[in-house]
Amino acid sequence: MSYKLNMVMGAVALNLLALPAAHAELIRGVAQQITHQPWENDNMPTGKGWAVKAPAGQGYAVSTGRKTTGANGINYHGGPVMLGTTNVYFIWYGNWAGNTASSILPDLIGGLSGSPYFNINTTYYNASNVAVTNATLLKKTATDNYSHGKVLADTDVSAIVSGAIANGSLPVDANAVYFVLTSADVTETSGFCTSYCGWHTHGTISGQDIKYAFVGNPDQCPSSCAAQTTSPNGNAGADGMASVMSHELEEAVTDPDLNAWYDSTGKENADKCAWKFGSTYTTSNGSMANMKLGTRDYLIQQNWLNASGGLCTLSH
Ligand SMILES: [Zn+2]
Repeated sequence: MSYKLNMVMGAVALNLLALPAAHAELIRGVAQQITHQPWENDNMPTGKGWAVKAPAGQGYAVSTGRKTTGANGINYHGGPVMLGTTNVYFIWYGNWAGNTASSILPDLIGGLSGSPYFNINTTYYNASNVAVTNATLLKKTATDNYSHGKVLADTDVSAIVSGAIANGSLPVDANAVYFVLTSADVTETSGFCTSYCGWHTHGTISGQDIKYAFVGNPDQCPSSCAAQTTSPNGNAGADGMASVMSHELEEAVTDPDLNAWYDSTGKENADKCAWKFGSTYTTSNGSMANMKLGTRDYLIQQNWLNASGGLCTLSH
């Protein structure tokens, strides 16, 4: 999927360069290709790769074989990773009244910090060999009462983040990931529920390189974006978001500007393990889970270990 997306990007690149930020994903990919060294030919990540369940039997894209991969199946491209404690901000967009997501998802961020699962990301490092830290902190949350309506484009997501910063709801923080979390009645027209369940990217906001992500409520399309209808915390949408948010967060810390860690097909670490859950156990309500973070059970996809030859795993 990522490979095909990038082929399309190349074909329409010149036209897109003339457009404003509505096609920021595509423009950014073109810019990165220009700055690549001649010997590099990895496909570029879009930040949207493989976040939707693959149809049964389809499996995952295979390597194009155009570049010899690193010893662990994922390659470093010279860009920064996120260092120290990664701050997290939520923007609850739309109507979340009475939804237990408002406790399930903050608990997720707290539970990830210091966990064996998030520790997988410490196998990724920057050009100075400084590694990602196993520490995340939900610093602040904001609400947004449909400031951009119920039909969002990528540019609206960016504007929701910049708006929350501009109106003082959230601080400007370049060492953070801002999550725009949309309620089940909100659509994202670049492909939510059809080609992805979430994505991450970055952009200049208030003069800083701000990393942000979109994650929609899978209650809109459970068959595409939720792993199960009965879920560990009794909220299939929020529990589905927990896995997608973990996916985007671990990609953001290891590839914040989309120029650090990804493989020869453009897959970032979590893309390589999307919808692979490893060993599961059954919780008291009959749902499946694969890890306990804090006091809660969650079913969260595996992540790619950049060591031991590389593999999808739940802990390091
Ligand atoms: Zn991804």
